[in-house]
Amino acid sequence: MQHEKVIIIGSGPAGLTAALYAARANLSPLVIAGDQIGGQVAITSEVENYPGFPDGITGPELVEKFREQAERFGARIEYDIVVEVDFTKGRPFYVKTYGNEYEADAVIVTAGATPRKLNVPGERECTGRGVSYCGTCDGFFFRGKDIVVVGGGDSALEEADFLTRYANSVNIVHRRDELRASYPLQQRALNNPKISFTWDTVVEEILQNEGGMVSGVRLRNVKTDEVYEKPTDGVFIFIGHDPNNTLFEGQLEMGNHGYVIVNQHMMTSVEGVFAAGEIMDPMWRQVATSVGQGCAAAMACERWMAAQGDVAEPTGAGVRTA
Ligand code: NAP
Repeated sequence: MQHEKVIIIGSGPAGLTAALYAARANLSPLVIAGDQIGGQVAITSEVENYPGFPDGITGPELVEKFREQAERFGARIEYDIVVEVDFTKGRPFYVKTYGNEYEADAVIVTAGATPRKLNVPGERECTGRGVSYCGTCDGFFFRGKDIVVVGGGDSALEEADFLTRYANSVNIVHRRDELRASYPLQQRALNNPKISFTWDTVVEEILQNEGGMVSGVRLRNVKTDEVYEKPTDGVFIFIGHDPNNTLFEGQLEMGNHGYVIVNQHMMTSVEGVFAAGEIMDPMWRQVATSVGQGCAAAMACERWMAAQGDVAEPTGAGVRTA
């Protein structure tokens, strides 16, 4: 069993920032990156609202910078997936990956969130065959095509705008007649001649052609109950996210919709296990907020480990306890 001072589960903005701060605190953290370093931001086309990049930066480029900076101070990154944890017996905490078994003095959970599914007939069968949850990954395949985007939040509008680089037309299907997205994104979408809207409407089924590819959607107007079919080449679904909490069920206290609960020191219901980023944040979900939470979790972790006698007193800015 490999012993570690601090294990960070997840490698999105929260995890890589926690790694940077923990590394600078000489905790030599081990990041278990999951199947894709960077989490959701790694598949985000353009990040325009992360301070310090006035002209925007692509998601993969930003992740690369986060990684470089964390590694420069001694963070180690393992490209592996956590399959089991045991926090129930206290320290050391048990963490098992496909490739290894670890015990850690402290754990920072930054496992993020996953795009929500519509759960309608045809969705699962057509995933990768015209159904997608990632414009950056799959937009290229829809050059000159007509596509449907489902959702009315920031993600749906931002991705719809991005997809017009490739698609001939993008029709946004939203279940209400009012968008949830922020004003600038609304304006951009409303002014984009390639984008149109279908209001008060839900997707009831994703239709396939004989080759198993998306050929259309069956829609229902929720006000009139009219049901009709609309031909389309692709369906991009952006209807929110669910926290990646399965590993922690029964071990960490969770609130509404399964988000891990932390106290003001970013500590979960288990002493010595901290959490940051979208696994604990149903509210803000920005790169900037995840970075801040990751920073706070690592500083709180350092402070807590010092109190346990694991490490020397922190030298950086401390965490107020009063
Ligand atoms: P979101 O804000 O939760 O919006 C989800 C959208 O999907 C809503 O319009 C919702 O409709 C709709 N929806 C949910 N379940 C549905 C279902 N089963 N069928 C049909 N429609 C459904 O999620 P998000 O857009 O992914 O954004 C998540 C967070 O990330 C937000 O805090 C957002 O501000 C942030 N974000 C920010 C940026 C940016 O600043 N550039 C970019 C992307 C995301 P209702 O409106 O009727 O609930």
